[in-house]
Amino acid sequence: MNREQYCKFLINGLSFHQKNVRFCTTLQMGPVISEYKETPEDLAKKIINLRENIQNNIIDNKIPTECENCIYRKQENYNTNKITQIYLYYWYHCNCSCFYCSYRDETKGEYSDKKKEGNNKIYKTLKELYKYNQVDKENLIVNFGGGELGVLKEFPKLIDFFLKNNVQHIWFESSGISYSKAVEKVLKNGKGVITVAVCSGSPEIYKKIKRRDKYKKVMDNLRRYVIAASKYKNDIFNIYNVVSKYIILKGFNDNKEEVEKWLLESKRIGLKQVEISMEFCWGIQTKAGQKIEEYNYELFDFAEKKCTELGLKLNKNLTSLDLMKKGVY
Ligand code: SF4
Ligand code: SF4
Repeated sequence: MNREQYCKFLINGLSFHQKNVRFCTTLQMGPVISEYKETPEDLAKKIINLRENIQNNIIDNKIPTECENCIYRKQENYNTNKITQIYLYYWYHCNCSCFYCSYRDETKGEYSDKKKEGNNKIYKTLKELYKYNQVDKENLIVNFGGGELGVLKEFPKLIDFFLKNNVQHIWFESSGISYSKAVEKVLKNGKGVITVAVCSGSPEIYKKIKRRDKYKKVMDNLRRYVIAASKYKNDIFNIYNVVSKYIILKGFNDNKEEVEKWLLESKRIGLKQVEISMEFCWGIQTKAGQKIEEYNYELFDFAEKKCTELGLKLNKNLTSLDLMKKGVY
């Protein structure tokens, strides 16, 4: 097989978005598998058939036309043709109202603490895919995005399903506003990483960015997750799996004072790992071609220096690093 012809997502990925099912996480590119019009049984069959067709075509050096110009297509090894990556981004509702949220067109900034079902076809479709042996269970990596997992009604059921099937690893992004027992279970089993974008080191800035007065609650919940993660065997590194993220937002938190407060607070509640990121979801759409602002470089350097002093592990967001290297959005 010509390795340049394929992308690993086409072989091993499956992504459930709000409007459709795809192979990859890109919303604009790649083949759409379904728009959820079928029953879960039929949806699973459709996924199985399309995966088989695409994989056969790749053997004949043909890739889907939707992938021809994709910049993410690259040579990657794979050991199995089963599904090893599942992305669950299929709901919008959230208990937070970040001004920079990519879903604001859909949610209009509305939020609620009430739990709501996301899409009742997903769980059943996953069960079918497992039944037909499409998933490489022990090597499966699951990514939860969304929407907020804390207000997704079927979330605990999905977690129990993946844990029962011996999932390898689960990545969570969460607002951190409500504490999730299901996430706690994953952390206690050493099976996942939770990232909460706190983006601030004080209740005032938090409220301006997130439009909710929940800074203290979020910090308490992060602390509880750290305690849960520390329960995993004798593995002291498992607490690195609870991460506070800081997205640099112009006019809100783009200064060293706030970054320093964020790091001190992270340290105070027992976190070991933090992540810094540029704001690029809006940036890429609204600033295409413009220079990356200088404050991003300065704050990345400042965070690095401070983390070394405080003994925190700093994760620099990879997409941000790529953009900063290029110098333009
Ligand atoms: S080649 Fe690009 S568009 Fe196609 S599945 Fe891979 S990442 Fe998605
Ligand atoms: S927590 Fe995430 S989904 Fe919720 S409003 Fe903020 S960015 Fe949007």
